Amino acid sequence: MGRVFIAGSINMDVVATADRHPRVGETVAGKQVLYFPGGKGANQAVAAARLGAKTTLIGRLGKDAFGAELRTFLGAQGVDLGSVREADTHSGTAIITVAESDNTIVVIPGSNELVSVDDVANVPLAKGDVAVSQFEIPLPTIAAFFTRAREAGATTLLNPAPAQKMSGELLALVDILVLNETELGFLAGVELSDSDEAARIIDVARGLQARADQTICITLGKRGVLTLAASEEFAVQGRAVKAVDTTGAGDCFVGALASQLADGVALRTALAFANAAASISVQRMGAGPSMPTAKEVAAVL
Ligand code: ADP
Repeated sequence: MGRVFIAGSINMDVVATADRHPRVGETVAGKQVLYFPGGKGANQAVAAARLGAKTTLIGRLGKDAFGAELRTFLGAQGVDLGSVREADTHSGTAIITVAESDNTIVVIPGSNELVSVDDVANVPLAKGDVAVSQFEIPLPTIAAFFTRAREAGATTLLNPAPAQKMSGELLALVDILVLNETELGFLAGVELSDSDEAARIIDVARGLQARADQTICITLGKRGVLTLAASEEFAVQGRAVKAVDTTGAGDCFVGALASQLADGVALRTALAFANAAASISVQRMGAGPSMPTAKEVAAVL
């Protein structure tokens, strides 16, 4: 059985709720302040670990109270934190204000910006492992991580979110690209929405494919996921559920997919499992706390 290695971000999301948003220069009294562990790397690691995969997170925490709290939380979820080092700055933090059923968000990357090429140099990747990353740490670090992974015979999985332009060299290091239709549109330089026809979405993905054997999975919210693989294209239909909070659905999907691939499960079966796992996560509040266990996924499959 392979392991999952995730090089990525770790954040504390600080959520303030109020009746209305303040205007520029104004102060309003809020109602509540809530703290949620987040960051795409951490969320995906929690998803994989809860599903039973041996999961190592490679990242940086700041020398602050959030750093200590996040370490405790992630450790309790079963994530191996031996490769999470301290950085001489504050932990990644998102300041979120929720009012009038709308939010404003300021994200400060902090320690996540300091996840370096050195940090991924000694990761003990081996054949059968899955190396996962996203776009909340520096891209040269991801390139170094994936280069090492491919040399070791591991599978590389990139979730290019939040979307930003990447080089052809980095894209060519990716075995499996998992992204939503907006991110695909951004990378391909076209407008796409989740109501576009599957054939058009697959065409756009084909235009982006960096290698003939590269797999591209496009997540489409409640519509499920479309996949373009080397010798086949197929859809996994979304599951009909009552969604209450889709925060972290994409992260749950990625973590679940990685856990299955590390287990040696075939792509199509792994995608059906990830689709089911993510459909459970949207029925619960929050990102980290909404990730299901393998038993919960098995119960709906
Ligand atoms: P992102 O959050 O990155 O935009 P998506 O919204 O595409 O990701 O969701 C990722 C996956 O989560 C989907 O492919 C699907 O499996 C599941 N999912 C998301 N929203 C729903 C929903 N409303 N009902 C059922 N499954 C959902």
